[in-house]
Amino acid sequence: LTAITAAAALTLTACGGDSDDGGGGSGAPKGKVGVILPDTKSSVRWENFDRPYLEQAFKAAGVEYDIQNAEGDTQRFQTIADQMITNGVTVLAVSGLDSASAAAVQRKAQQQGVKTIDYDRLTLGGVADYYVSFDNVRVGEELGRGLAKCLGDKKANIVYLNGAPTDNNATLFAQGAHKVLDGMPGFTKVAEQAVPNWDAQQAATIFEQMWTQHDGEIDGVLAANDGVGNAAISILKKNGAAGKVPVTGQDATLQGLQNILDGNQCMTVYKPVKREAEAAAKLAVALLKGEKPVTDGTVRDPEGKRDVPSVLLMPISIFKDDIKRVLDDGFVKREDLCKGA
Ligand code: BGC
Repeated sequence: LTAITAAAALTLTACGGDSDDGGGGSGAPKGKVGVILPDTKSSVRWENFDRPYLEQAFKAAGVEYDIQNAEGDTQRFQTIADQMITNGVTVLAVSGLDSASAAAVQRKAQQQGVKTIDYDRLTLGGVADYYVSFDNVRVGEELGRGLAKCLGDKKANIVYLNGAPTDNNATLFAQGAHKVLDGMPGFTKVAEQAVPNWDAQQAATIFEQMWTQHDGEIDGVLAANDGVGNAAISILKKNGAAGKVPVTGQDATLQGLQNILDGNQCMTVYKPVKREAEAAAKLAVALLKGEKPVTDGTVRDPEGKRDVPSVLLMPISIFKDDIKRVLDDGFVKREDLCKGA
C-alpha cells in the first residue's frame, strides 16, 4: 500500500524531460483467470489501461487468462461469465455494471466452485471472496479538496455531476466530496445529479440544464470523472465560460490531462491502474495456487452486511504542475499529450 501526498510542485515540464516505466513479475502457477470489464464508454480506462496492465500482470505470472468487456450490457455480462466458466475459468474477477446483475453472476460462479474477485467496483450484496480497488472515499475527498483549491477563497456556487447511481464507487466518490466541501462556509451547493452509466452525452445534457436553470451562476463543477468533466467543459465552452469555472475529473485520461494543460480543467485524480491490475493478478494467482491471498483490510458491504477482505490503493491528485508524475509512470505518453501543444 502506497501513501502518496500531494506531489511537490514542479514548474510545468510536462512536455519536456524524460520518462521511465517500471515492471514486475511473479511465479508460474497453473489455472485460468477470467476478467469481465464493464463497458467501453464510461471511461477509456477499461480498455486503455486496465486491459493491458492486467494482460501484462497475468503474462508475468505465467497464468492463463481471458479478459472480456460486457460493453454496457448486463445480459452480455452474464453470457461472458457462463462461457468463461464453461471454458475452465476458476477465478473470476468482475467490474459490475450494477450490483444486482453482478451479484447474480457471482452467485452462479460460486455454485460452480469458482472464486470471485470484485475488481475496482464493490458488488453490493455480492459474494466476492476478495475486493481490489482504490480508497474510493479518498478519491472523493481529493475531488473536493481539488475543487476547493481551484476556487480559492471566493464564495462559490457549486454543482455535482456524480457517477452512475448503479456504481457503488460513485456513491463513495460523492460521499468523500461532500465530506470535504459541505463544511466549507464559502461554498453553496446549487445542484447535484447522478449521470446514468457515466454517459458523457447525458452528463452534457444534465449540466446544460443546470447552467440554464441557474442563469450561468455556477462557479465550480465537481465532476466525478474526466469524461463527465469534459462534458461539462463542452457546455462551458459554448457559453464562453471554459477556463473560468473550475471542473474536476478522474482517471488521468489523455483528454482530462489535455483539458488541464489547456486551463479548462482544474485537476484529475490519477489512480495508478497498473498497481490495481497487479494487485488483482496477485490475488488471482494465489487463489489458483490454493494459497490464502494477502490483503490489507476489509471493506464493508452494507447491503450484504459483510466485510470483504480487500486491497485498497491510494489515489493521487494531479494539478497542472503534477502532470509529469503521470507521464513518468508511462500511463499517458508524452508524445500523445504534447501533440499540437
Ligand atoms: C471507476 C472510475 C471510472 C468510472 C467509469 C468507476 O467505477 O472507479 O475510475 O471513471 O467507474 O467507468
